[in-house]
Formats: sequence, C-alpha cells, structure tokens
Amino acid sequence: MFDHRELAKVMDLFHFEEHSPGMMFWHPIGLQFFRVIEDFMRQVYQAYGFEEVRSPVALNRSLWERSGHWQKFRKNMFVVGIPDADAEPDYALKPMSCPAHIAIYKSHKRSYREIPMRLLEFGIVHRNEPSGTLSGCMRLRQFVQDDAHIFCREADIRDEISNFLRMVKQVYAAFGYNNFSIRIALRPEQRLGSDELWDRAESALIEAVQALDYAYELAPGEGSFYSPKIEVSLQDHLGRSWQCGTIQVDFNFPQLFDLSFVNEKGDLEQLVMLHQAVLGSLERWIGILLENHGGVLPLWVAPVQIAVASVSKKSADWAEVIFKRLKQIGARVELHVSDRTIAKKIRELSVRKIPLIAVVGEKEAMNQSLNLRRLGIAGQQEIQLPELETELLNLR
Ligand SMILES: [Zn+2]
Repeated sequence: MFDHRELAKVMDLFHFEEHSPGMMFWHPIGLQFFRVIEDFMRQVYQAYGFEEVRSPVALNRSLWERSGHWQKFRKNMFVVGIPDADAEPDYALKPMSCPAHIAIYKSHKRSYREIPMRLLEFGIVHRNEPSGTLSGCMRLRQFVQDDAHIFCREADIRDEISNFLRMVKQVYAAFGYNNFSIRIALRPEQRLGSDELWDRAESALIEAVQALDYAYELAPGEGSFYSPKIEVSLQDHLGRSWQCGTIQVDFNFPQLFDLSFVNEKGDLEQLVMLHQAVLGSLERWIGILLENHGGVLPLWVAPVQIAVASVSKKSADWAEVIFKRLKQIGARVELHVSDRTIAKKIRELSVRKIPLIAVVGEKEAMNQSLNLRRLGIAGQQEIQLPELETELLNLR
C-alpha cells in the first residue's frame, strides 16, 4: 500500500513542516494538481446553478456568538487577538463559511425570484484538531473545502437534495469511485433550536433520500449542533471507506440570523438553509486519490500529463515542436532535452509517476512521430502527433 506522503515526495507535490502542524506547503506541481481538481469542481457547481463567492478567513466574535459556534465549537477554533486591544479576543479563523455566506445573502433584500440562491466558496477553513490526530493531509488544521450553501424554501428541499446526490454520483465516478453509502445523522444532545424544527429538518432529509430510492442508515445523535445531515462515504479500491460529501437541512440559522425573502404576495417569508460539500476537504480528497491509485492517476487529473524527452541533440528540435503543440492545446506537459541519457530520463519521469512519456529520437524526428510509453503498461507505441493531440483533447 502507498502512503500519500511518500507519493507526494517522489511526485514533488507538497510537504509538511514541524513548525506548522496540520498545515500544508504546496509545491508548484502540487498546486497545479490542486487547481485541476478545484477547476473541475467549479465547472460542476456552475452546471448545477451555484455562483462562486469569496469571504474573509477571520470573522468577528459577535458573528460566532450569534451562530452559536462561540459557545459550542470554540475549543476547535483558532481565536485571533488584536495587539494592544483589551484582553478579550476579537476574531476567530472560520472553521466553516456559513456565517460569511449569510452575510452575503443579507447584504440586500432578496426577492423570491432569487430563490433558491446557491453560493459556493473554495473556503480556507481552520479547525483546531488535537495534534495527536493529525495525519498527513487526511486530517489537517487548515484546509480548503467546497463550502456551499443553498438558501431556499422548505418546498425546494427535496429537489436540492436530489441535485446534491446527482452531483455526488457524477463527481465520484469521474475520479473512479463507483460505490458510495449514505448515512443520515440525527439530532445530537447538544443542539440549537426547538424539537419541532428538528422534526421537520430530519423528516425532510429522510423523505428526500427515500424518494430517490437510495439505501441509507440512520445515525442517531450524530448530527451537527445546528442541523441533521446526510453523510456520503465513498469506497476506495483498497476497500476503505471515507466520509466526504455532506448536506445539512438547517432551520436554525435562518431563525438566528433572521433570513427571509419577499414572496410573490409581497410578504416576508422565512427560508431554509442547506449546507453542502461534495468533496469535503480538497486536501484530504487528494490524499485519498493518491493512495487509491498508488500515484498512477487518471490522465485527466494528473498534474503533469505528459513529458516529451529527446534521445539526443539531433531530435531536440522535433521534441520542442511537440512540446509547443501540446502546450497550445492546454495539455500539462514538460520538455526534457538535456544531455542525460534517454534511459535515465525515462527512469526519472516514471519515478515521478508521469502518466505519458513521449520519446523522440532521430527516426521519430524523420517520421514526424513519437514513441509513446504509458505508466504501468509495458511496451511502447509509435504514433503521429495529431493522434496524441486528439487523445488529450478528448479528456475534457
Ligand atoms: Zn455551512
């Protein structure tokens, strides 16, 4: 079995430092990898009617008091003091983006025409996990999550949950995971709001999942302090289960923050807030993906998809032409035309888990072709450049 930290080292993706436990240092190729996943998710969210926003990392204590985080979640938050102010700390780094998205929603009066409003942020969040539980990028203190909120009517809940589960299915399949399971986490002992609200929220979730005919398990007592939730766990190729996706039906924040819109009759109507994440922590998603594929990533997601390597100086020009053409079509490509032997180049590129290596010698330069090697597959294949271009273009 592969450890994602070892893979990250040979692939030069990221590392950790003792002085910043639970936080990551992304290297250029690693950040490229991160961006591929983020951009993919951005497109999926857009297709489902979400609009991207960005909000502050630190928010004032008064907001956290209003949301209940200060009372119920404070030991998990990084509290930030202001020098020379009085002793009381004033800000906390956000452990989630909900209050910030509420602020965006409330920045002006909303009409029924804007409902459902779906907001997405690749939000940088901080959670003060105990140092003993930190483990590579599987459990961090700082990470980015696809932090999305839907402001809608109670009658929209079923459709929104069904959209969420369609998204989950589509996204997980794109990364090679075809099996997932669903749990519905119900009210915990420590919670906000009346039992009547919890009854409504819980039955909305259960009915939405039943309507889709998905199998599910109930998990009493495991909801968050403000709402019950669906938890989606994927099964990886190593037989492990990872809880990644979640959607929560929340009647409490809309009450606490007085969230409403003007309905068709001109009256103020209260709404429901759904909190969702399809991947959860992007860093953790990447860790799972690396281990699941042993570093041999699907071509569409690999941070460097192809390396073009010349056998000698005589074929360097043709290698450069191939490199430029692939770059032009948006492929993530590297060029290796140094004096090192081709055997050495191939070895290094394979250790780095680059999925495709295009070897270019004098014969290929003459034929205007290239010799393609695929990671994990023995042998090689002489093909024409347009053929390779088509394969890479079809990945999108
Ligand atoms: Zn939220």
